Amino acid sequence: MTGAQRLIVASNRLPVTLRRGHEGDWKMERSSGGLVTALEPVLREQEGTWIGWPGVGADELPDVEAVLERESGSLGYRVRGVGLTAQEEKDFYLGFSNQVVWPLFHDFQTYCNFDPTFWRAYREVNRRFAKVIADESAAGDFIWVHDYHLMSVAEELWQAGEGDRKTGFFLHIPFPPLDLFLKLPWRFTLLRSLLHYDLIGFQTGRDRRNFLECLRTLAPGVELEGEGRVVRARVGKRTVRVGAFPISIDFDEFADEAASNAVSERVARLWSEFPGRQIILGVDRLDYSKGIPHKLHGFRLALHRYPSLQERVSLVQLVVPSREDIPEYHAIRTEIERLVGRISGEFTRPGWVPIHYKYGQWDRPELIAHYRAARVSLVTSLKDGMNLVAKEFSAASLEADGVLILSEYAGATAQLQKDALLVNPYDVEEVAEAIHQACNMKEGERRKRMGRIRDRLRKEDIFWWVDTFLKAARDEDLGEWNELEVYQPPAPPGFFDAVRD
Ligand code: UDP
Repeated sequence: MTGAQRLIVASNRLPVTLRRGHEGDWKMERSSGGLVTALEPVLREQEGTWIGWPGVGADELPDVEAVLERESGSLGYRVRGVGLTAQEEKDFYLGFSNQVVWPLFHDFQTYCNFDPTFWRAYREVNRRFAKVIADESAAGDFIWVHDYHLMSVAEELWQAGEGDRKTGFFLHIPFPPLDLFLKLPWRFTLLRSLLHYDLIGFQTGRDRRNFLECLRTLAPGVELEGEGRVVRARVGKRTVRVGAFPISIDFDEFADEAASNAVSERVARLWSEFPGRQIILGVDRLDYSKGIPHKLHGFRLALHRYPSLQERVSLVQLVVPSREDIPEYHAIRTEIERLVGRISGEFTRPGWVPIHYKYGQWDRPELIAHYRAARVSLVTSLKDGMNLVAKEFSAASLEADGVLILSEYAGATAQLQKDALLVNPYDVEEVAEAIHQACNMKEGERRKRMGRIRDRLRKEDIFWWVDTFLKAARDEDLGEWNELEVYQPPAPPGFFDAVRD
C-alpha cells in the first residue's frame, strides 16, 4: 500500500484472545502462528487494524472494546472486536461456517445442515463485521478479509454505502467443484457476494478453476480474461482479479526452532522411546476431511503386505481436538479409536506397538520434536486447503532426510508434487505401497527430494505469501511468481494407447 492507504485485516478470530483471570479481571493472550507473524509487521508499518472475534461471548463481556483498547497497547497496531452472542456462535460459527460451508467446500455434502437460520445468522454477523470495518477505515484503505466465515463482508460494505474501500478476500479452505457448489441453497447470493471483492485469492489453481467454472456457468455476463497466477473477471464496469496464492509457514523460524537445544533434547527422548525404529508421523486436527481412517487402513495393509515393517516402524498419530459440539466430529473420533484398537490387537508384539495414538494438544517444541524425530510424515487428507503440517514437517527435517507422503487432494501438492510421494488416500493399496517405499528409500534419494522441498519452501514462505497477495492487490507484476502450477494425476505412459490401436 502507498501513501495514506492503510491495511485493515478482518478474520473470524482476532490474533488475541480475552480470558478472565483469577480475580475476575480480563487479560489478553496473544496467538502465534505464521499468519499472525507475517501480518503483524505490515499492520504496524501501516498503522493498520485487525478486526475479529476475541473469543469471548458478547453476553459474557459486553464491554469488549474497552478491554481490548486497554490490553492491546503493546501490539503496535489496533485491534477491534466483533462480539458474538452464544446463539450467534451456534448459528454463525458452528452452524453456517462449520456445518454448511466447511463440509460442502471439502466435498462432504452429506454432512451439510442447510438450516436457513444458520444462513441468516451468517449474513447478520458479516453485516456486523462490515460495520466495524466501515467505522475503522476510510475510502481507499485496503481491507483484507480472511476465510470462509466472512465471504459476504464486501457486499455488506457495499450495501451500507461504503463500497469505496479496496477489498481483498483470501479463502484458506478449498473451493468446491460446480456440481457441489450447486447444492448450496444460497449459491447465487454467495457467488454475487464474492464478486464484490476486488481481489479473490485461492490456495491453488484447482480451487480457482472450480470458482471460475461456477462463474462461467452461474453468472452469465461475467467475462474472464488472462492467464497465470491472477486472471480477471469483468462484471460490467468492475474488474475482479482472481488469483491463486499458496499459503505457507515461517520456514526459518521452524527450522531454527528445530535446531534448538530444547527441541534436540526432546528428539533424543523420542528416539530413545523408539529404539532402532522408524517413526511414521501423522498430525491432524480431528476432522473428517483429514482422512485419518484412510491412513490407518493404509498402514494396516502395509504391515500385512510387508511383514518386514513389523517391529521396524511405528505410526505416531497425534490428533488435535476440534469442533467437539458437532456430531460428525464425535463419530469420526469413535471410528478412529476403534480402528486403532483393532490394528493394535492384530499386530502388537512384546516390546512393539504399531500405533501410538495420542489425542490432545502439543506445545511447539514438542510438536517440532515429533516432526524432526520422524522419518516419514503421512498426510492423507481427503480434501485440504493447503495442509501446513506437510510444510512444517519439511522445515523441521534439518538433515533433509525425511520423506513426505502427501495426499494428492492437499493444496500443498501443487507445489510439492515432484518430490513428495503422492497418494490417493481412497486407494488403500497405494497408501500401503507409499509407506513401504518411504520406509525403504535410500538416504541419497531422501536427501535429494527433501532438499528440493526445503529449498522451495524457504523461498515461498509466509512472508512471500503476504507480499504476493498485496502485490496482486495493487495489480503489480508478479514476475517469476506469475506462473501457476496445477496438480493433475498423470496416467502411466502409453496407458491409453491400447484404445487407439
Ligand atoms: N497444531 C497445533 N497444535 C497441535 C498440533 C498442531 O496448533 O497440538 C498446528 C500445526 O502446527 C499446524 C496446524 O495446527 O500449523 C494445522 O494446520 P493444517 O493446515 O495442517 O490443517 P488445519 O487444521 O488448518 O485444517
